[in-house]
Amino acid sequence: MKMWNWIERLVRKPQPVELIVMRLADMHRFHPEQITGTCASCGHVVGIYPSGQQVMKQYPDVKLTCSVCKTPGENTPLAPGAEFEPFQSMRKQ
Ligand SMILES: [Zn+2]
Repeated sequence: MKMWNWIERLVRKPQPVELIVMRLADMHRFHPEQITGTCASCGHVVGIYPSGQQVMKQYPDVKLTCSVCKTPGENTPLAPGAEFEPFQSMRKQ
């Protein structure tokens, strides 16, 4: 199962983490616990869901990238709990 593959990778190698988040303007729903940040590439305001906030806690150096600057690919892992959110995170290759 795909999800276990990325969990294994997550546990095995501490690497720079890139979190792909939606621009606030593109979000169709508002999560009560979401916070905002800025895309490291374009500077747009992005919304960060609780799953992304967990990733940020775990990896303080995480780089935020909006889904416009980087489209999540086929191998893009989800942040824990993100399957319930329109939200994705991605590890740098
Ligand atoms: Zn961007």
